[in-house]
Amino acid sequence: MIKAVFFDLDNTLYDNSLQVRVAREKALKAMIDSGLPSDIESARKKLSEIVGDKGSNYQNHFNELVKALCPENNIKIVAAGVVAYHDAKKDHLIPYSDAIHTLLNLRERGYQLGIITNGVPVKQWEKIIRLGLKDFFHTVVIAENPGDYKPNTRPYITASSDIDIRVEESLMVGDRLETDILGAKTAGMKTAHLLRPIKTERTNGKTPEADYRISCLNDLLRIL
Ligand SMILES: [Mg+2]
Repeated sequence: MIKAVFFDLDNTLYDNSLQVRVAREKALKAMIDSGLPSDIESARKKLSEIVGDKGSNYQNHFNELVKALCPENNIKIVAAGVVAYHDAKKDHLIPYSDAIHTLLNLRERGYQLGIITNGVPVKQWEKIIRLGLKDFFHTVVIAENPGDYKPNTRPYITASSDIDIRVEESLMVGDRLETDILGAKTAGMKTAHLLRPIKTERTNGKTPEADYRISCLNDLLRIL
């Protein structure tokens, strides 16, 4: 019997991809407006090279961009990008439209709720607070060390023991087969793969199929 539902955070409870896309675009426009000698297309291309090269958690993407495109390496331009980026990120940190309804409904039905996510704890908590979700969950487990990241089973086991249930008594909901679903299945949880209509992630043979496939969070109310 399922007693708890655990959620991934990014792209499961809110649209992280849209948020990052819009924030990068606004940052590029702000940097060009502040004197970055580039057109938007070339700046976009260069930034995506830098992000690909340095990884998305690197702190100085805009410094690298300005260094690459601007002979004077103007720090004011970097700052303009940083401000626009953070403003846009804040504006787009809103839960998926069915998230609150689903969480409230599950709580009313007696399920314990949790978040299991990878990342820098203060950053992940900042998102949860800004999303207005900080009081919905009985436990929030943030795998901080890359060695413990999902699909490692440790965060799933920690989350279950936090709320005194056995892993088999829980359902994990996430958008990524190779992290969320793989780790949860290995730990012994039931799994629901959230595939929003625009996404086309398919299992590649190495990743497991989830027990359920859902296209929105509301679908959980039917499954459970
Ligand atoms: Mg995710």
